[in-house]
Amino acid sequence: SVSSYLFSSTSIPCSMRRLISTLVLGEHKGGIVKPSCLSAISAAGSICNDNSISILLAGSGPSLQKAASHAASSHPSLSQVLVADNDLLTHPLAETWADLVHFVQQKEKYSYIITSSSSFGKNILPRAAALLNVSPITDVIEISDPKVFTRPIYAGNALSTVRYNGLDPCMLTVRATSFATPTLSLKESNSTFAAISQVDLSEFTQETFGKSKWIKKSSPNTERPDLVNARVVVTGGRGLKSAENFKLLETLAGKLDAAVGATRAAVDAGFVANDLQVGQTGKIVAPELYIAFGVSGAIQHLAGMRDSKIIVAINKDSDAPIFQVADYGLVGDLFDVIPELLEKLPVD
Ligand code: FAD
Repeated sequence: SVSSYLFSSTSIPCSMRRLISTLVLGEHKGGIVKPSCLSAISAAGSICNDNSISILLAGSGPSLQKAASHAASSHPSLSQVLVADNDLLTHPLAETWADLVHFVQQKEKYSYIITSSSSFGKNILPRAAALLNVSPITDVIEISDPKVFTRPIYAGNALSTVRYNGLDPCMLTVRATSFATPTLSLKESNSTFAAISQVDLSEFTQETFGKSKWIKKSSPNTERPDLVNARVVVTGGRGLKSAENFKLLETLAGKLDAAVGATRAAVDAGFVANDLQVGQTGKIVAPELYIAFGVSGAIQHLAGMRDSKIIVAINKDSDAPIFQVADYGLVGDLFDVIPELLEKLPVD
């Protein structure tokens, strides 16, 4: 069968051609599957819930196998974890990943390929879609019918509903903030939902796959939580006035176990690196608590944070548009407010 050609494990359910089958592209770190992937599985579950959802995890070594075990017990809608273990996949290089997706799809013919609208997903899915010659639909926030999707346009100021009329696979990136991660009952949290299978990568070599090669990663070492998945985000805008002043936010973030975000104006002014940018052309976040200091609330910024559960804004201009989306607003000078907060918050 097609499946037995692709997979070396005997634990795979006998392959019958499925009517609808979905492959979720999964991201993992430190042996844990990222919450944004669980949201992508929830999105897949709203299209087909008949045990036909697989997640593909790639990497190498023990941390990949640990992530596979974590994935298998992470979501009740998942039926299979496909593990692509190869040194060429140790780092999630988009070009190599796209080749992997193409390779798996040639064998398995999934009807849907879904991933989250994270940097990981946005990097890989369009490349894989080009290799498969289909047009992807990005940033989906609602699935109203298996082929009808809603996605924001014009920086979130309008919603567009689109029908996919193309060939299989239908390829989607979905906003993690729009599809809930499962809350497992006590019994479920001790369950394994999915079978783990190793993808046969004997044909997967540097010569045949990927013209790109991983060389190195340069990024500031930070103990802060990941911006996209953090429960609390403290963001600074142009009102912070300098890179030096952003250190105040770092200290505050440390006390709140928060990630630090920034507006594009703050990034363009060189206060912080651009991987902290939140907004239309930055990261999309929806933490439980979003605190904005010296941020005016331009639509391009709101596009990246308006789904946050509680928004707190501190701005000295009472007419700043950020107050229109804020649950709590404080008209005041951030250089008075931040030191006062630091003083009143408990010492770590
Ligand atoms: P400003 O608009 O200058 O606001 C600074 C605020 O700080 C003001 O409201 C001021 O009252 C307040 N302030 C000043 N001093 C203090 C103080 N001492 N105490 C308290 N408050 C103070 N922007 C993004 O953020 N993310 C994006 O992804 C993004 N993408 C874009 C894409 C496009 C195509 C375009 C055209 C723009 C994009 N922008 C984006 C830019 C966006 O339009 C705004 O220019 C930007 O968000 C403004 O950043 P800001 O709020 O820090 O600065």
